[in-house]
Amino acid sequence: MITLRQLLAAVGCFIGLLYLLATFASPASKPAPAAIIAHATPRPDLVTRAQQAAAEQHLASARLTTLERTKRQLDRRQTAADQMAAYRQRHLDAHRTEWSNLILRHWSQYQNLHAAAGRSPALETPCTICDDSFLKFCLICDGHNDGKCPECHGSGHLPGGDICPACSDTGKCFMCAGTGKMPCPFCDQRGMVYFDHAPPSFVPIPL
Ligand SMILES: [Zn+2]
Ligand SMILES: [Zn+2]
Ligand SMILES: [Zn+2]
Repeated sequence: MITLRQLLAAVGCFIGLLYLLATFASPASKPAPAAIIAHATPRPDLVTRAQQAAAEQHLASARLTTLERTKRQLDRRQTAADQMAAYRQRHLDAHRTEWSNLILRHWSQYQNLHAAAGRSPALETPCTICDDSFLKFCLICDGHNDGKCPECHGSGHLPGGDICPACSDTGKCFMCAGTGKMPCPFCDQRGMVYFDHAPPSFVPIPL
């Protein structure tokens, strides 16, 4: 027969045992979440790193594409620049007759101006052949003195798509800069004829 005292002692022992078990069990169970976290943490890191690497690669590839495009454009511009003199000379040569006729037409007037410049104290005199150093027309322009480049007719490009070497992509006539009025070959930018300057060229030259 178990007495009440014995029952209480047994219950007390049981509770004590439970407490001991709980105390010993808790330190062992604590590392578990840490271990889970330790194992779980690298996953987002790896994903993020992979995303960053992919983004960096995409950026580098975009930069490379831009650089390649810029280089192609620069190469095209350089090619056009290298060919500019030859292209322009071809158009100048094509207008040889009109040019020499222009000089001949005003030759006696130019000689009078040159003589007047020789008599002036500053050895210069205002040109009366032109208006403010420009003629009223352009010999080089497309057909009707419309200011368009004679090579590309205003598009800025050759038929194949390359930059027009004559106008460097502007589409404007290289002689009159698109105005339809070419610089006067008898005077300078100030519109003056000088006694000690060479006479105008009888062959077409860039002005
Ligand atoms: Zn002039
Ligand atoms: Zn022109
Ligand atoms: Zn052109």
